[in-house]
Amino acid sequence: MTINIAGAGPAGLTAAINLALAGRDVAVYEKRADAGKRFHGDLQGLENWSGDTNVIHDLERMNIKVNFDCDPLLQLITTNGVQQRVSHYPDDEPLCYLVKRGALPGSLDQGLKAQALAAGVQIHFNQAISDEEADIVATGPRSKEVFAVDKGIVFETSHEDINIFLVNDDAAYKGYAYLLITNGYGCLCTVLFEQFPRLDDSFEKSKQIFADLVPLDIRNPRAVAGVGCFSTKNLFQQGQTLYVGEAAGIQDLLWGFGIRTAVQSGYLAADCFLNGRDYAQVAAAFFRPKLKATLVGRFLWELVRFKDYALIVNDRSNRTTLKSFDLSNIYRFGFWQKLLYPIARWSMQRRYPNLKL
Ligand SMILES: Cc1cc2nc3c(=O)[nH]c(=O)nc-3n(C[C@H](O)[C@H](O)[C@H](O)COP(=O)(O)OP(=O)(O)OC[C@H]3O[C@@H](n4cnc5c(N)ncnc54)[C@H](O)[C@@H]3O)c2cc1C
Repeated sequence: MTINIAGAGPAGLTAAINLALAGRDVAVYEKRADAGKRFHGDLQGLENWSGDTNVIHDLERMNIKVNFDCDPLLQLITTNGVQQRVSHYPDDEPLCYLVKRGALPGSLDQGLKAQALAAGVQIHFNQAISDEEADIVATGPRSKEVFAVDKGIVFETSHEDINIFLVNDDAAYKGYAYLLITNGYGCLCTVLFEQFPRLDDSFEKSKQIFADLVPLDIRNPRAVAGVGCFSTKNLFQQGQTLYVGEAAGIQDLLWGFGIRTAVQSGYLAADCFLNGRDYAQVAAAFFRPKLKATLVGRFLWELVRFKDYALIVNDRSNRTTLKSFDLSNIYRFGFWQKLLYPIARWSMQRRYPNLKL
């Protein structure tokens, strides 16, 4: 029996790779012309803070090889456009790894596609299938559950590597903007969590603030854009069909980092499929606490905006060397998060009425 998977993103391809490596016949249907076509060369962060182990070890455990460009982020400047703090991360614990998304050589998507083909997966491009036709649905964000929008550019530059995280409500209302440069390749984006019609203006404002901070030559700019979706009432299974990645609403409401959880859910779905485990139960136990933690994280983030994010950019502790796992406290559904959850959920449901919380 062939296992049919809808969507050739990180979630779908991870499931496909693991099923094929276990000897199953797997067919992936992708509505676009190639893997990664949802994106246009964006630099994204494969976060290294939400798990107990380094994300690269986590990928290896899930049978995913690093056959794509993957640059550790070891220094981050956080600024509101006026003040700034610089954080350094140890070589073996980068904050995240910068990966390219899209159909271009060296991208995460092309790397996963190559691994899937090598494992014997058939991939049918330009073919959409419905949820009912799929055993695993990995179709990415659902338009009704959008909480964030992103607009930016990718470009070539002679500027040295630099990573800047900008928190400024003119440039990115309740969200953030970022400038990432690695090996002469740059990405400058703004992410809004509200006031979506302001996206174009916000992007121009972000560009201006970055230009004032960094003398930057931008060559051959190409537009990138996208949305993120989220739920804590996740649809992990309907009938025999399993849902993974953003199609299941698995995302990070705090900042929108969904690659790692997409891969994890694809792996878990394949594992449950192969070993007759109850995916809905396993996935709920694994993801729901993390999702709730990111909801509390967003609630708090929106509170600390006062005084133009001074709390975040002011380095009163004078501690500039951090471990990426320091951030893991925010992503853990611990005592304080559990205590705050009811009010955070109530507040976030009012803020984001379209989300299923
Ligand atoms: C601009 C932007 C920046 C981001 N930055 C980061 C970041 O820095 N770090 C991070 O971790 N995450 C980031 N994310 C989120 C991350 O990209 C997603 O969470 C992740 O790609 C989700 O993987 P997925 O496999 O669930 O879905 P996707 O990657 O969206 O893949 C789904 C695939 O399914 C296909 N498809 C859809 N419908 C059908 C159908 N009916 N039949 C067949 N195929 C179909 C789509 O074409 C697509 O290829 C960002 C998102 C955006 C939009």
